[in-house]
Amino acid sequence: MNNFLHENLFAIILFLLMIILLLIGLIGVVIIKLLLNPKSQTNSSAPAVKEEAPLIIPTVETAKKLRKLADETVVEKFFCENHPDTPSVGACLICEDVFCEKCLIEHDSLYFCKEHFRVFANNKWKQITDVKTTPNTPDDGLFIYHFKRHIWRDNETPSFVLTHYKINIEEDFIESFIQLNVIEKDADRLSDEIEKYKAR
Ligand SMILES: [Zn+2]
Ligand SMILES: [Zn+2]
Repeated sequence: MNNFLHENLFAIILFLLMIILLLIGLIGVVIIKLLLNPKSQTNSSAPAVKEEAPLIIPTVETAKKLRKLADETVVEKFFCENHPDTPSVGACLICEDVFCEKCLIEHDSLYFCKEHFRVFANNKWKQITDVKTTPNTPDDGLFIYHFKRHIWRDNETPSFVLTHYKINIEEDFIESFIQLNVIEKDADRLSDEIEKYKAR
């Protein structure tokens, strides 16, 4: 009888120990998940950014916003570079000057001034960056815009930035990939230069 109780007690204690171990394991998993999830980390610190996230859609407006972010000192121009009395409708992807409807050429949702449409059409282009940004890290691609301006101002080296959007279903936001395109023959040199530029 005593022996029987003793054996049962042992089983009960073993059972309880297993449950405790299981609970510890579960708590551990929950803690690790919480620590690894960037959403919960930033929830309190950046609610404004999170709320804005669903508004980011792939439009010219977004591109403008990003360009603005890239250079806050940029002066907003409203009239065509060629026709000072005509309101502008958009900016050339290469020179970033703004132009009226007559002066701006659209090709596959990309906009160029007449001069740079020729540059675009007559060259082979190579993408040299693919930098991911998220609503939590909106500044990660800024150096690309700065670099683009830098090579244009210094040497009139043409390049253009494309933004590729991907919806992150798991995290419920839109990721953007900032892609700098340069003329193929410049690609190797500019790849090196942008790495150095980023590291500054
Ligand atoms: Zn242009
Ligand atoms: Zn014009």
